[in-house]
Amino acid sequence: MAHIRLNTHPSQGGQPAPPVVWGARDPAVRGPVVGTVGLGSHRNVIGVHSGSYGIYRALAIAAQELKADHRPDLTNTSPAEPIGPFEAWFDPKKIVSLDPWGHLVSEVFADKLAAGWDIRPTIAITKAHVNMPEIMEAMAAGRLKPDNDILSGTGDVKVTKAAIEPVWWLPGIAERFGVKETDLRRTLFEQTGGMYTELVTRPDLELFLPPIGGATVYFFGDVSKLGKQETKIACRLHDECNGSDVFGSDICTCRPYLAHGIEICIDMAQRGGVGVVIYNRKEGRALGEVTKFLVYNARKRQPGGDSGRAGHALPGADARYLPLAGRQPHRPLCLDEQHEIRRAARAGYRDRRAGADPRAPDPRRCAGGNGCQEGRRLFQPDQARLERAGARQGAWPR
Ligand SMILES: [Zn+2]
Repeated sequence: MAHIRLNTHPSQGGQPAPPVVWGARDPAVRGPVVGTVGLGSHRNVIGVHSGSYGIYRALAIAAQELKADHRPDLTNTSPAEPIGPFEAWFDPKKIVSLDPWGHLVSEVFADKLAAGWDIRPTIAITKAHVNMPEIMEAMAAGRLKPDNDILSGTGDVKVTKAAIEPVWWLPGIAERFGVKETDLRRTLFEQTGGMYTELVTRPDLELFLPPIGGATVYFFGDVSKLGKQETKIACRLHDECNGSDVFGSDICTCRPYLAHGIEICIDMAQRGGVGVVIYNRKEGRALGEVTKFLVYNARKRQPGGDSGRAGHALPGADARYLPLAGRQPHRPLCLDEQHEIRRAARAGYRDRRAGADPRAPDPRRCAGGNGCQEGRRLFQPDQARLERAGARQGAWPR
């Protein structure tokens, strides 16, 4: 290895990075997100594509199983369903953490790809069926009926799903957090152990590909109805909980909530609307699974038994009130303690579904509501409820 570039500067070589005009209506003006580690003059982001998977790519290259200049063949990879463009794409303040053109790069940047640019999609959209035992239970209980289109008699549910990698437009992210962009950049630089020097040396690069998980969006129903004023939408925003969502762990109730959200989404799709489940690939409100399990242990062992408070003395506790939700009052970065407390209150009740039925009325959340009413509120939120929710979040136990 003859030469290692430790850092770059805007003036280096006298060649500016390809411009990005975030929110521009014309994709040619907006410009592509170029995270290539090949031709430096085309590169206009900090970081690399595929987040943490970049490390695995490096391992494969180091082991000489993959060529450093490998370029993916994008033939036939275009979206299985067209989504967008929507007006929100053209307001730079509305979308700041993903590239709305991310699934369309082969189309809108075809000329640059043909000219040899290494532009990679940050969104991929495909179609599949999902099948969960809870949906069969919902059919057996008569809450869902098969229609042989969206939902089959054997419980197969038709979905369109989108995998999304984060693309942070740093000026917009800083504004969401109410901080100066320079402070955000410096903190990101320092708290990643100096991994991304360009955060501080390249103010001209406004895009950051953070090494974090993205989101998967599951759409139920006709996605061409998205973006239309008359379309009713049921939406669940769900943070990944691998222990419960995949393994059915009994220590929390995330999977029942997810299953309930999917049930409501199927119902909405059958009634002509669209169901949307946004599955954020971050554990424990972005604390990570190690911290999450430490919290479980500390909570069970504390004097006086289980409560939501133990976690606050744990590693990462200083991070848990970091505002991430993009609104005021910010939702604290925190384990879902209310779920934990409710689950613990049913000592000896092994069945997680019976332990905390998300369909049952929850006086803390919405007095007198049942699942359907709650689902309706999801797509017709009233201001008073939003304010109540905000007040609750502000009063999170400390
Ligand atoms: Zn959970």
